[in-house]
Amino acid sequence: MSLSPDFSKKDINKNIDRLINEGYEVARKASDGDSWESVISLLDEFEFRFERECSVNSHLNSVMFDEKFNQEYEKTLPKISKFYSNISTNKELFNAHKRVLDTNLTQQQTHIVHEAIKGFQLSGIDLDPDKQEEVKKIQEKLAVLSNSFSNNSLKSTNEWKKSVSKADLPGYSEDQLSKIRKKDGSFEITLQMPVYLDLMTFCENQTLREEVYKAYISRASEIGLTSKKYDNTKIMDEILKLRLKLANLLGFNNYAELSIASKMVESPNQVIDFLDLLINKSRSQALNEFQELESFAGCKINPWDFAFYSEKLKEKKYGFKKSDLTPYFPEENVLNGLFSLIKELYEILLKEIKEDSYHQDVKVFDLVKNNESIGRVYIDLYARENKRGGAWMSDYQPLTEKNKPVAFVVCNLNKPTQDKPAMFEFDEIVTIFHEFGHALHHLLTKVEYPCASGISGVPWDGVELPSQYMEFFAYDQEVIKKISSHYLTGESLPDELYQKIIDSKNFQSAIQMLRQCEFALWDIKTHMSSKDTYEILNEVRQKTSIIPPINENRFLNTFGHIFSGGYAAGYFSYKWAEVLAADAFYYVNQSGSINKDLTYSFKENILEVGGSLDFMTQYKKFRGGEPELKSVLLSNGIQ
Ligand SMILES: [Zn+2]
Repeated sequence: MSLSPDFSKKDINKNIDRLINEGYEVARKASDGDSWESVISLLDEFEFRFERECSVNSHLNSVMFDEKFNQEYEKTLPKISKFYSNISTNKELFNAHKRVLDTNLTQQQTHIVHEAIKGFQLSGIDLDPDKQEEVKKIQEKLAVLSNSFSNNSLKSTNEWKKSVSKADLPGYSEDQLSKIRKKDGSFEITLQMPVYLDLMTFCENQTLREEVYKAYISRASEIGLTSKKYDNTKIMDEILKLRLKLANLLGFNNYAELSIASKMVESPNQVIDFLDLLINKSRSQALNEFQELESFAGCKINPWDFAFYSEKLKEKKYGFKKSDLTPYFPEENVLNGLFSLIKELYEILLKEIKEDSYHQDVKVFDLVKNNESIGRVYIDLYARENKRGGAWMSDYQPLTEKNKPVAFVVCNLNKPTQDKPAMFEFDEIVTIFHEFGHALHHLLTKVEYPCASGISGVPWDGVELPSQYMEFFAYDQEVIKKISSHYLTGESLPDELYQKIIDSKNFQSAIQMLRQCEFALWDIKTHMSSKDTYEILNEVRQKTSIIPPINENRFLNTFGHIFSGGYAAGYFSYKWAEVLAADAFYYVNQSGSINKDLTYSFKENILEVGGSLDFMTQYKKFRGGEPELKSVLLSNGIQ
């Protein structure tokens, strides 16, 4: 079978309709089955084709956006979600899974069937029909509410605008000014992230910073600096109430317990202990970092002063600007250096394939082992007008008996110009390594069951391990030698600049650590209780806050990860996976250089097994024991 996706945007609704009908037919057949082949394999074979279709549609909608296609694409979404919710509450299919569990299975197969059964249970399969109906209704309501939450956030962000003159913006560079210049020569400040960040970081006008900060931090609330029309307060209360009710119906004490039932950690209290420990270890250093900032600024630091003085302090302390590094990192060297690292770590070659995909900028590489292609990656690096912002990896197809895995890696970086190659900032290189970590997780899999192959079936708090693990390699001096080559002189990054990257890596890291822990601790606690959510935030802040928040602070009212994304009672996953990634990296690097046998063991125990075995057991197998918290503190420079 082919490794090349079909990028023609033809009849997508017709195809999805046809596949969904087929899916119901397959589910009906599988419901009569009683063996791995007649139930799981049958569903998996369908899932493979269905997911592939969905994946290419979603990819094209993200990277080649056009109105007409988007309209078609949006029509497919409710059909797909309804299909999955019907499948996950299909009692006959559930019973068929239970029959499979009684047959003779391998360890991987047993794990896969167990996880599938758990999925049915978490969808309410064991409940009486009227309660099951209630669960479905709550889920539908939650879907609508989270969509309203996100629309309100967006509208409230977009609505606020302020016209200013150049004289209001001392500290801005020409580049920054050009981003907000209007046709009539005035400048428009909005609450869009890049505009907001520039203002907070570079604008010397403190009064303007204060005004914009207050508008930003109180969006979608009752405060009224942006329109009260988009107040999310009631929606948030309703969402939290419904989540609690849902958890109770499914037999849990609270929503945090429900969320954790499908994650690696064992209980909400384990999460709280974990976060408390990180907070306790970071607090005194964070206070020192803040003191350093205050004495540098020579005045009291308000929330709207923080980014401004931090940037100035950083420049003074380390004596370099980001742009000093960029000429050393032209695209070709970055990619070739990364590929040579992958070859060293995993004995895999990346070989460029000439193929017309969906855009001329896309580069296509086959992964080759022992002269045989084992998978393919489509790399789409440059920013384009019709491309969604950010960076991500998505899987197109998993490994099966007859198919090789294929992944998409997408970034939004500078293009080459007529006289210069594309060159990347160091942060962007770290991002490329991160996304390649995800891609390797997907592509190096040895599991031939689509539901557990590559990144499929990996618990939420484990997915970011391979990506964050890969980030560490971007800071290794040997690796930086490989990926850097000055675009004019060919010189690799001088030791002195390398040292500056390392020294500045952990600037204010303890303050950042407290901030992330504050979000995560509030998130888990608010999903364990029915108390007012801002009251819980205030309690958490007793431990985490460095600058007292102002009265207008309503940042929860636009916290999309929790109220409209998938991170509810799961925000801690970022930190959890970071601990594993740091622990894994220090383990393979314990003698001061990368130990090849150990990186190989990471590949065998983590990357190759995907979601086919218990994630934590596999981790301990690689590590020879429990992960240690000290590595993440060390990597953040926290003593
Ligand atoms: Zn990631």
